[in-house]
Amino acid sequence: MVEIPVWQLAEGKDEIDMAGKFERYPFKIGEILTLKKIHPCGNAVWVVERVGQEIGIRCRKCSHFLVIPRRTLEKSVKSIETP
Ligand SMILES: [Zn+2]
Repeated sequence: MVEIPVWQLAEGKDEIDMAGKFERYPFKIGEILTLKKIHPCGNAVWVVERVGQEIGIRCRKCSHFLVIPRRTLEKSVKSIETP
């Protein structure tokens, strides 16, 4: 893994802005999501545990951890509960 110096991050600002365009819903750690799709364990409720370009969610019933692209998740969410 390569560490990116701060100055390179500043130069790549356009890229950051582009990414920002697609982040429509700001998922937050601890939020409870009800998904349209039911997990094989029979549960549809997940908890947000990691945020970034991809979102890490944990199944509330079987504790399965899933990393899912933000846009895919936005399309799959039925409702969001903020703790
Ligand atoms: Zn599950």
